[in-house]
Amino acid sequence: MKVLVILYKGGKAAQEEPRLLGTVENKLGLESWLKGLGHELIDSKEGPDSDFQKHIVDAEVLITTPFHPGYLTRDLVEKAKNLKLCITAGVGSDHIDLNAAVDHRVQVLEVSGSNVVSVAEHVVMSILLLVRNFTPAHEMVERGDWQVSDIARNAYDLEGKVVGTIGAGRIGYRVLQRLKPFDCKELLYYDYSPLPPAAAETVGARKIDDLKDFVSKCDVVTVNCPLHEGTRGLVNAELLKHFKKGAWLVNTARGAICDKDAVAAAIKSGHLNGYAGDVWNVQPAPKDHIWRTMKNPLGAGNGMVPHYSGTTLDAQARYASGVRSILENYFSNKPQDPQNVIVGIGKYETKAYGQR
Ligand code: NAD
Repeated sequence: MKVLVILYKGGKAAQEEPRLLGTVENKLGLESWLKGLGHELIDSKEGPDSDFQKHIVDAEVLITTPFHPGYLTRDLVEKAKNLKLCITAGVGSDHIDLNAAVDHRVQVLEVSGSNVVSVAEHVVMSILLLVRNFTPAHEMVERGDWQVSDIARNAYDLEGKVVGTIGAGRIGYRVLQRLKPFDCKELLYYDYSPLPPAAAETVGARKIDDLKDFVSKCDVVTVNCPLHEGTRGLVNAELLKHFKKGAWLVNTARGAICDKDAVAAAIKSGHLNGYAGDVWNVQPAPKDHIWRTMKNPLGAGNGMVPHYSGTTLDAQARYASGVRSILENYFSNKPQDPQNVIVGIGKYETKAYGQR
């Protein structure tokens, strides 16, 4: 069986650090196991000149990661006559045309839960670094300067603020759990799937049904829902008008949920005090992507990093082992863990990728 693995080149770091499993060099730790079973493992980087286009034609299994994704478009799904299973090494399968997968009876599985703590920690860190104006303070000391007032004029405590999450699934809920001890004024969430009452009570989170109403109440908004037809461009110029002036926005879900230019304009005008996250509308982000350098009127408010929150070494160990379990089930015709199945044969099996 041909198993095609689309990863990214980890270079020197991946040669020196074998725990960088999600790289071409280390192949999720699957190479010798798969070859020992007699399967063909083809690794390839995504891109127009890559082998991806060539090998997808007769691959039966495709493994990709969201961090440096191999985009499986409808066009490629149609060419992939032998494709039966796509596995996302991580969480978030929007780089695969899921509707095309449904139409062509290709299953899509991800390793649910594998990096949700990793991302939730990153969200809390990002909220803190924006609210406390950390990045310009650190840049100041590196430059050799010391002007406390320049930083303190835009530094706040998280205590007493209203924080809300768009999406209160595995990550969103873990963010709320981690924020509870900060004594925020209120924790809110917006999601069409309500939290079980006991879970909402544990974190003290209140559901708001209208998105404009929700953002207008929040000092900090964090985005933790998948990218699908209902969330692409959800945070656009119109919605941003309803944000509190000076609010902070953190998006570690998917870049395209927030409108690139509308966010940059809101930061430039100071309507948003800051934006942070690790996900971009195109990955890798072009060198001149406005989110790399956008700043608020005080020259701060940017907490952007490359897509890595969910690919800590701890997370890589979990998603590599999750990919292996999915493959083991597939090879031996055993049922998959239902929580990992995004698209089953001919239909969505999850409620998280939009209301259908
Ligand atoms: P999950 O399925 O547990 O939760 C997603 C939640 O979003 C669900 O409760 C769902 O009902 C809700 N939702 C869907 N559409 C919505 C909408 N229109 N409005 C409000 N809520 C909506 O998923 P998760 O494990 O919490 O992961 C969420 C997303 O985070 C992933 O799909 C992925 O895109 C992203 N993610 C990013 C990284 C990273 O490294 N940056 C890592 C893992 C996951």
